[in-house]
Amino acid sequence: MIVDTDVLVIGGGMAAAWAAISAAREGADVVVVDKGFVGTSGVTATGGPNHWWVPPDDAQRESAVERRYATSCGLADKGWMARIIDITWQTLPQLAGYYRFATDSRGQPYYPGVRGPEYLRALRNLALESGVHIFDQHPALELLVHKDGSIAGAAGYARLERQHWQIRAGAVILATGGCAFRSGLIGSYTNTGDGHLMAGEVGAEFSGMEFNVAYSISPAWISTRTLPYTGARYYDVSGQELDIPPFRSGTAYLKALAKAFAAGPVYADLHDAPVDLKSILRHIQPATIAPFERKGIKIFEDRFEVKLFGEGTVRGTGGLKITGAHCETSIAGLYAAGDTATRELIAGATSGGGAQNAAWALTSGILSGKGAAHLARRLGRRSTETIKPAGAAALRPSGTAKPIDMQAIVQRVQDQVLPLERALWRTSKDLSNTSVLLDEAWREIIVYGHAEGLGIVAARETAAMTSVARLCTAAALAREESRGIHSRADRTDTVPEYTSRLLVGGLDSDHLWTRYETDTTMKAIA
Ligand SMILES: Cc1cc2nc3c(=O)[nH]c(=O)nc-3n(C[C@H](O)[C@H](O)[C@H](O)COP(=O)(O)OP(=O)(O)OC[C@H]3O[C@@H](n4cnc5c(N)ncnc54)[C@H](O)[C@@H]3O)c2cc1C
Repeated sequence: MIVDTDVLVIGGGMAAAWAAISAAREGADVVVVDKGFVGTSGVTATGGPNHWWVPPDDAQRESAVERRYATSCGLADKGWMARIIDITWQTLPQLAGYYRFATDSRGQPYYPGVRGPEYLRALRNLALESGVHIFDQHPALELLVHKDGSIAGAAGYARLERQHWQIRAGAVILATGGCAFRSGLIGSYTNTGDGHLMAGEVGAEFSGMEFNVAYSISPAWISTRTLPYTGARYYDVSGQELDIPPFRSGTAYLKALAKAFAAGPVYADLHDAPVDLKSILRHIQPATIAPFERKGIKIFEDRFEVKLFGEGTVRGTGGLKITGAHCETSIAGLYAAGDTATRELIAGATSGGGAQNAAWALTSGILSGKGAAHLARRLGRRSTETIKPAGAAALRPSGTAKPIDMQAIVQRVQDQVLPLERALWRTSKDLSNTSVLLDEAWREIIVYGHAEGLGIVAARETAAMTSVARLCTAAALAREESRGIHSRADRTDTVPEYTSRLLVGGLDSDHLWTRYETDTTMKAIA
C-alpha cells in the first residue's frame, strides 16, 4: 500500500487522535496509523484520565501554575503551563456531542475526569467525522527522509493484511506514547518506545530522559489503575502495619515501599478510601474492579498483596525535545505529541501523571496538528522528490544477518531498568555497568538484527525498548545530582548549577551524547 497525504499521525491514543482532529480542522488531508485499534489502544483507553482543569480566571490560573511550578524543580516553563491550561479548558467541552460528560453536584457537566474507553471511542468518531483516514493494526516501522534530511513520511507493516505500507506526507506527528518496557503496566503493551527509535534514527534530540522513574501500585497479580490507593495502608506478612509515607510524597513513598518489598510480601488495605470513591469506582474505572471480583476479593474490605509496576516514560516526563510553539522537534517536518514528547515544559523533573500528562496529550495534539497542517500547506507534499528509509536497527543489519533471541534482549533491558533498587538508588557505578550491557545488546541488534513478516514488528519493538533504555541510562549518568524523580544514591543533593534541561541524542551514530540545554559542549558517552 502506498499513500500520499498532507499530515501523517503515527499512534492511536489521545494525543494522536487530538492531533489528527486538529490537523483536519485546519483543512489538511490526514492519515492516522496505529499499532492497535484507535479507540482501545494506548494507556488512556483502560482508565479514567483526569485532566489539569483550571478556570480561565487570572488569579486561579496563576496560583495553579505557581503551585505546580514549585514542584517542578525549576525545569517547567510557566508560559507553556498557562497555554496548556487554556487549551485544555477550551477543547474538552468540544467533545460534548460525542461523549456523555458526568455531572457535578450542581448538575453541571463535569469535564476534567473522563471514562477512558468512551473518551477514546468519542475521539475516534470525531476524527472520522472530521475526515481523518484511520488505518488500525498498521504499526509504523521507520521514518522516510528527503535528501535534505527533512521528514517525508513513514513505512510500516500491516498486521492483518501482512503487507508493507508506505505513506508519504508533508509533515509527520509522532504520538506513539511513552515506553514502559513491557513491565505489565495496564494498557501499555504497545508502548515500546517505537517513536523514540524512529526519531532517534534521524538524529532527533531528547530531553529529560533521566526522569523515567515512575511506578504504579497494583494488586500483585495484575496491573490496574492507582486511584483507590491514595488512602491505602500497608502491612507485612505478619499483619504489622508498615510506615509508608503518603502517596503524594512521590519518591519517598516509592522508596519506603521498595524497602518493604525487599523484606517480603506487602499487603494493601483500602478501608480508608473516600466514601465517594467506593461508590463511583465501578463507573469510572471498571478495569480496576474486575480482577478483584474474579478472585472473590472485596477491594475496599479485604487485604490483598500488591506490587509496583514500572511506568518508564509513560508517567516519567522524558521524551523528544520540543523546539517550537507547535511541538516541533529538532528534525524538520517532525512533530511530537503526548508521552512521546518531553513533558518537562509543564511538569519539570516530576511525573506529569495525575492530571498534567492527559492535559499535555490533548494540547500537544492540538498544537502539533495545527503546526503540521500549516507546514504541509506551506511546503506542499514534495511527492516527486527522492526519499529514503531511515530505519537501521533490526531492519538493515550492518553485518551479516543472523537470528537473535529478541526475548532474551527484552529480558536484559528489563533487568537493567525496572528493578526498584536500581531505579530508586542510582549510582554512577551501576549506571555505567548498565550502559555497557545495553550497548552490547544494541550492537547485537544493529549488526545482526533482521526479521521477516510480523517478526519485524517485534524486532523493532525490542530495538526501541533497548534504545529508550540507553537514552534513559545516559541521561541518568550525566545528571550528577538528585532532582525530582531522578534519585542518585551517590549524589543525594540538588545542585543549583544543574537547574537546566539535559539533552541526549546520538541514536543515529556509534555513541550517545548528552549536554545541558544551556551548555553548547556535547559530552560523549564512552
Ligand atoms: C495507570 C495510569 C494512569 C494514568 N492516569 C492519568 C491521569 O489520571 N491523568 C493524567 O494526566 N495522566 C494519566 N496517565 C498518563 C496518561 O494516560 C498519558 O499521559 C496519556 O494517555 C498519553 O497519551 P498518548 O496518546 O501520548 O499515549 P498512549 O495513550 O499510550 O497512545 C500511544 C499509541 O501509540 C500507538 N503506537 C505505539 N507504537 C506505534 C507504532 N510503531 N506505530 C503505530 N502506532 C504506535 C499505540 O498503539 C497507542 O495507540 C496515566 C497513565 C497510567 C499508565
